[in-house]
Amino acid sequence: MQANNDSAILVTRSSMPPLEEYVKEIEPLWETHWLTNEGPIHQLLESKLERYLSVQHAELFVNGHSALEAAIEALDVHGEAITTPFSFASTTHALVRKGLDPVFCDIKPDDFTMDPEKIEALITPRTSVIVPVHVYGNMCDVDAIQQIADKHGLKVIYDAAHAFGVRYHDKGVASYGDASMLSFHATKVFNTIEGGCVCFSDTSLQPILKKIRNFGITGPESVESVDGNFKMNEFCAAMGVCNLRHVDDEIEKRKHVAERYCDLLSGVRGLRLGVHYGEGSQESVTPNYAYMPVIFDDKQFGASRDDVFYALAQSNIYTRKYFYPLISDYACYSERFDSSLTPVAQWAADHVLCLPIYADLALEDVDRICGIIQDIPSHK
Ligand SMILES: *Cc1c(COP(=O)(O)O)cnc(C)c1O
Repeated sequence: MQANNDSAILVTRSSMPPLEEYVKEIEPLWETHWLTNEGPIHQLLESKLERYLSVQHAELFVNGHSALEAAIEALDVHGEAITTPFSFASTTHALVRKGLDPVFCDIKPDDFTMDPEKIEALITPRTSVIVPVHVYGNMCDVDAIQQIADKHGLKVIYDAAHAFGVRYHDKGVASYGDASMLSFHATKVFNTIEGGCVCFSDTSLQPILKKIRNFGITGPESVESVDGNFKMNEFCAAMGVCNLRHVDDEIEKRKHVAERYCDLLSGVRGLRLGVHYGEGSQESVTPNYAYMPVIFDDKQFGASRDDVFYALAQSNIYTRKYFYPLISDYACYSERFDSSLTPVAQWAADHVLCLPIYADLALEDVDRICGIIQDIPSHK
């Protein structure tokens, strides 16, 4: 891989508030010395997020993964969990680490979310929960999934790590299912450096999640369960309070970048965008422009996904093969699963490439990236 003189463009770039704004937010900590354990900034961020996300409750965690594990534990689900192999490691790892057996359901070819038509065939007497992913910020078919869950008495936990700020029929994405996990990792649309939350409406889950977050402690002299430490500290919460003030502007800037990609790439033969704004399955969805997945059909495009990956890398532009390999093909899982049982996911993993997208990506850089991509077949 050769680097040239252009400065590198990475697949994403973390949003940061103006430094003075952050300093102002953390300054009181030098008075109070209250640095963690549900301090005032933690409480402030939770209530601001509940309002922003239009959810009844949001409980903060040190990262999205621990929030997902906590949601699984709090909902007391066991046995088998129907989930998707087309996601980040965290989704399946959380289930396995909490003692569940994952069962992989295939995805839809248009938006890569779990295919509701393939769920029922996977349900057994041991199934207790469905764990779909709003992958790339594409909204799952929440209505169909809920209908199946209700019919069979299953819980639904959404991995909404990609979907901060997404809305459906003007309801917040995280208000669906029994619980939704959001990630506030540095690479996500909204970040607290590291962080995440569980969103839910059943108030009885609140004390359980608080207990799971803090060693099972329920009072100064009472410890009720064997749990770990997943609390967000005040410095991360302060980053969140600052970033939340700017997140609408950041999403608006991402929108311009995304629309430029759509304009330049939508007519190219053999190439298909993995996001559809307000159309098809995403009708009535307000997007967050988190990712720019593109599917390359080798035969029609004249070059493979990997050709595009290397050609862009030679120009110092770094894309990501999200999500390759499929989770079911990881070394830690491949003996247990057969990826050919989820052929759509298998095909997507082999043909998708996520192009750079972030609020401050210059439109001229988008033009350059798209120009390089369109030239690749003729150089082969
Ligand atoms: C980022 C991510 C997670 C994990 O979130 P962290 O905050 O990094 O722990 C889980 N699932 C998906 C799909 C993600 O992209």
